[in-house]
Amino acid sequence: MRHDHLITAKQLSREDIETVLDHAAEIADDPAAYGDRHAGTLLGLLFFEPSTRTKMSFETAMKRLGGDVVDMGSVESSSVKKGESLADTARVIEGYADALVLRHPSQGAAKMVSEFVDVPLLNAGDGAGHHPTQTLLDLYTMRETAGLDGLTVGIMGDLKYGRTVHSLSYALTNFDVQQHFISPKSLQLPRNVRYDLHETGAMVKEHTDLEGILPSLDVLYVTRIQRERFPDENEYRKVAGQYSIGLEALEPAKDDLVVMHPLPRVDEIDPEIDDTHYANYFEQAHNGVPVRMALLDLMLGGEL
Ligand code: ASP
Repeated sequence: MRHDHLITAKQLSREDIETVLDHAAEIADDPAAYGDRHAGTLLGLLFFEPSTRTKMSFETAMKRLGGDVVDMGSVESSSVKKGESLADTARVIEGYADALVLRHPSQGAAKMVSEFVDVPLLNAGDGAGHHPTQTLLDLYTMRETAGLDGLTVGIMGDLKYGRTVHSLSYALTNFDVQQHFISPKSLQLPRNVRYDLHETGAMVKEHTDLEGILPSLDVLYVTRIQRERFPDENEYRKVAGQYSIGLEALEPAKDDLVVMHPLPRVDEIDPEIDDTHYANYFEQAHNGVPVRMALLDLMLGGEL
């Protein structure tokens, strides 16, 4: 399917996902072969929220394809500070760039901006909404380490505000994957996401603790409690520190369990896990470069 923009993982078919992952694998095998593929191309970066991995890996990806970036910079130093609307900012920057990457604290921001711009727009996170490019690198990592069809995946932590969770859960419905969601009651999946997942007929179960389900998991995807999205700090404090794992907690797990995390972590994964064979989160972050190179190459070439 041709996509003018990438707003949510919901719009991606299995074929779309496989096209991106296959291309990312080709690129990872021989990155230098793509070094001038998009010479002269400029990617506009509009980040209205903090970002390390997403922003830097998009920048790295564009540069490794021979292009460059133009960066709006921080909100503090841009005309947003003077009251410029998001739509106006995006319409101005699309005149400078061949594609745009947007991160914004408001859910729905990318969808709204996509109605105003003609160049491809990639959603790099819209509040507690979606984060489809993270999902592509999550799937790539899963496929490389554990495969995809036939997996039992546990997704743990802040399922309510965690946009990476929403996107990943939608994308996994394209595969033969059992999904187990582990969270405190107050941070369960939003009702609309749960409804959408059930509509697809996917095998989905919710749990309040990890113990019972851990031994059957092939992948455990841990997420951070999204402190910045809580309307009330007291509510955050009630759940902070819960659902963190150490090495001892993983004893009942399969020996080849793959532990993933979109990062940044706060205290969800004890660093003692970092040097074990379970840990895959740093590789996962590194995979952001070939996956975003593949995505940019396909979207700029009108092939996705
Ligand atoms: N980096 C991811 C995001 O932007 C995960 C997180 O912040 O917890 O959604």
